[in-house]
Amino acid sequence: TPTTNSPIIRPINRGVVHRICAGQVILDLSSAVKELVENSLDAGATSIEIALKEYGEEWFQVIDNGCGISPNNFKVLALKHHTSKLADFPDLQSLTTFGFRGEALSSLCALGNLTVETRTGNETVATHLTFDHSGLLTAEKKTARQIGTTVTVKKLFSNLPVRNKEFKRNIRKEYGKLISLLHAYALIAKGVRLVCSNTTGKNLKSVVLKTQGSGSLKDNIITVFGMNTFSCLEPVTIFMSDSCKVEGFLSKPGQGSGRNLGDRQYFFVNGRPVDMPKVGKLVNELYKGANSRQYPIAIMNFIVPTRTCDVNVTPDKRKIFFSDECSILQALRDGLRQIYSPNNISYSVNEVE
Ligand code: ADP
Ligand code: MG
Repeated sequence: TPTTNSPIIRPINRGVVHRICAGQVILDLSSAVKELVENSLDAGATSIEIALKEYGEEWFQVIDNGCGISPNNFKVLALKHHTSKLADFPDLQSLTTFGFRGEALSSLCALGNLTVETRTGNETVATHLTFDHSGLLTAEKKTARQIGTTVTVKKLFSNLPVRNKEFKRNIRKEYGKLISLLHAYALIAKGVRLVCSNTTGKNLKSVVLKTQGSGSLKDNIITVFGMNTFSCLEPVTIFMSDSCKVEGFLSKPGQGSGRNLGDRQYFFVNGRPVDMPKVGKLVNELYKGANSRQYPIAIMNFIVPTRTCDVNVTPDKRKIFFSDECSILQALRDGLRQIYSPNNISYSVNEVE
């Protein structure tokens, strides 16, 4: 009820602020694992293993063979807004890394129990690090490990009651979403071996994704979806301006995926997996001109100058702003129309032959 007296404005306790903000960066299982996989890619890893216990409900772990973390970074590793990737605001315009805000590890500390094992090329032994909920380093011990980093998160969301309940109730759904997201990274990452496994019960381990780390998008599609699916796709390049183009693979006119809307549709901007609802809608709409019974599979990477797009739009970095969205969409529409217009039948016939 409104009071007539003006209430006192007070600062929120810092730990509480941290937990509230962390809950916006780490929304669910897939955004948590996404951050760790992106850190491994930023560290130059060529092999990334994702291990889950009970679909991620108990713990999850990302193991890489990247550059490792040097001992003088241990204390600041999980502190909020501490990063090796961005120093000043203009750096945002020429960003080439997935991370830049130094929020993931600190958020994961706030929402679960974080440990890190790491070793760089300069060390002969690795170090096991334990952090508390505020991101402070609380224990450090030597251990054996190859060069690289393992980050483990136990009991995610155990201190956000509402989220925790939802997390446990929807764990299979969260897990499904994660696998689909990992497909996106498996498709776009060239020369990176990706393995994901889940262990249930005492020791029932099943491998749910395994790629060899081939060098091309084509080979990655074949590994992830199989040759049959690949043979229903055609390569597409659409130039949207002198400096912008989209490259990828789309279903051939008569050979859509036939499943649900949005199924196997992956969009990337400069190799970063993102959500592009407007592009998805456009692709589906124009595909209808060629095939009204099915939806297309779409794997499309937008290659644009980094200064023309902003990924710092939402805390989970899945949304993107283009400085010239209208003309990008218009050029895409024109390009797709050429591919899928019903008058283009000769084109699809040639494709089938
Ligand atoms: P950001 O990725 O935005 O920098 P993070 O909280 O995800 O923020 O990571 C903080 C820092 O920890 C990174 O900048 C990086 O230097 C280091 N780091 C995190 N994960 C790894 C990893 N797997 N290998 C090497 N360094 C890592
Ligand atoms: Mg990061």
